[in-house]
Amino acid sequence: MTRRIGSGKLVIATHNAGKLKEISPLLAPYGVECLSAGSLGLPEPAETGTTFIENALLKARAAAEGSGIVSLADDSGLSVAALDGRPGVYTADWAERQWFEGEPGRDWYMAMGKVEGMLRERGAGIDRSAAFHCVLAIAWPDGEHAVYEGTCAGSLTWPPRGEMGFGYDPVFVPEGRDMTFAEIDPDEKHAISHRADAFAKLVVEQFDS
Ligand code: IMP
Repeated sequence: MTRRIGSGKLVIATHNAGKLKEISPLLAPYGVECLSAGSLGLPEPAETGTTFIENALLKARAAAEGSGIVSLADDSGLSVAALDGRPGVYTADWAERQWFEGEPGRDWYMAMGKVEGMLRERGAGIDRSAAFHCVLAIAWPDGEHAVYEGTCAGSLTWPPRGEMGFGYDPVFVPEGRDMTFAEIDPDEKHAISHRADAFAKLVVEQFDS
């Protein structure tokens, strides 16, 4: 039987206040009090894994070892079928403006354009299917862990459409819809997303069964 978090403190292995704000209300109904690794002064480990599972686990383990408290991490990204699953774990890296002068930061339009350029190089009529993936990893300080995987299947469109969302949302059309994730109402996106899928699995196993 899978070990359970139970109620009490849970460290969210992130330094991103937005992620803490998104995850806390999902777990509050189960009596879970979320703290962020950032607020505890824990260092951020380098994401050296080659899969979403490896990266989520290494972040969750680092937080659990550093805090002595059960910890949760997520790792997510976009996999494009015709690009052999790329950008995959490098989804955020493809937006790094390392070769541009000026302010460092991420350029999502450039990243979406890179994906589109690679698809076009493969010729007209190429398979445009893609999926967002989300892995949630829970790690206990004694080394035990649990992993939940979520996906949202869809296809890529060009040019980008919509003002809502973030990252690759403007080019991703979820299966069964004709609007991009950036055109769909955020509440609706959150109900069908890869993150919702992973969280639903976590909640069933950790709290509902
Ligand atoms: P990480 O999980 O924080 O390492 O980042 C994964 C990257 O995947 C993000 O920076 C986004 O670019 C991308 N990504 C993950 N989920 C979504 C989503 O729901 N919409 C758009 N992009 C996403």
